[in-house]
Amino acid sequence: MASARSFHTLAVSVGRDPGPGAMLNPPIALGSNFRLTEESAYEPNYARADGTVTWHAFEEALGVLEGGRAVAFSSGMGAISAVLELLPTGSVVVAPRFSYSGLRQQLAERVERGRVEVRWVDTVDTEATVAALDGAALLWLETPANPTMDVCDLPALVGAARGREVATAVDNTFATPVLQRPLALGADLVVHSVTKLVGGHSDLLMGAVVTGDERLAAVVGARTLYGAVPGALEAFLALRGLRTLPLRVERAQASALVLAERLQQHPAVHRVRYPGLLGDPGHARAQAQMDGPGTMLSFDLADGAAADRVCHATHLIAHATSLGGVETTMERRHKYPSEAAVPPGLVRLSVGIEDADDLWSDLAAALDAATG
Ligand SMILES: *Cc1c(COP(=O)(O)O)cnc(C)c1O
Repeated sequence: MASARSFHTLAVSVGRDPGPGAMLNPPIALGSNFRLTEESAYEPNYARADGTVTWHAFEEALGVLEGGRAVAFSSGMGAISAVLELLPTGSVVVAPRFSYSGLRQQLAERVERGRVEVRWVDTVDTEATVAALDGAALLWLETPANPTMDVCDLPALVGAARGREVATAVDNTFATPVLQRPLALGADLVVHSVTKLVGGHSDLLMGAVVTGDERLAAVVGARTLYGAVPGALEAFLALRGLRTLPLRVERAQASALVLAERLQQHPAVHRVRYPGLLGDPGHARAQAQMDGPGTMLSFDLADGAAADRVCHATHLIAHATSLGGVETTMERRHKYPSEAAVPPGLVRLSVGIEDADDLWSDLAAALDAATG
């Protein structure tokens, strides 16, 4: 019924109280405690365990878009940690060598404590990834990957993991459910940094895990136990952001393609990483498994110094680390010790909803000034 509707319609309509006289938007419910009665078999008791109407409205909406049940967390890292804490001690995790640095840091820290074992793989290489699955408990995927924009073969890897009874978690932060729905491809868990595109305005920190019914209780249990719960205002703002997610993604994605094509023509740019480009190694896979190549891209300059100069030379594009907001941001990633494997001259660009020509004027002027 509702799932036959377009994403634009769903994003606007789901997660609203249909009752007579109900407010169209949930209140920013500030409260931890609920009155207990003798009347009903189940009633909310404490907000850390049972949530609030504001969280529930956001969770309902994100769950419908991803095709599962969503659990809201205080940050993307809180969501990642809840998933990893579901693993029994000694579990083997197959994880992408190129992926969000926070995931890699969380895994490395757990390896150090003897909590889990990790087999690091290049998930672009389907054969090598499948070969690493035997005896593993979890396959973690991130596609397109932050910040290399690698695209793995999601249906093939999820299918191979399923055949070996390995659970799959997919970080869907870059694609968003507008462009990619891993649960429909057979993944068990989807993870989001809601901070990024779903929230969309760089004004909150939040995360989410989305899953089918059988893992829901465990994910909620991990949130209740470890306590990485979202705030009321954040949940309200995240839902408000989600209402315009398809619109923002569509607009920013169109501009991302324009910028990627123009960057490719610029003499200072050695490589553009964007699955929307015909020559990109991820192009065919993105076409097969996504509804569009997304709003994120990276480009490589000759070296770190040139990349730093460009990042400092823009006026409209903000030099900032986070991504997925309505405003375009960019950053050189190799400067962080956790991103040592990324080429020194790689600049990650998060395309916002400004005019594409204005963005290009700013970027082209910065490239000319910094590399000319
Ligand atoms: C930022 C990010 C995270 C972590 O989310 P926070 O909200 O910053 O905790 C996880 N995955 C990806 C792909 C990200 O970009």
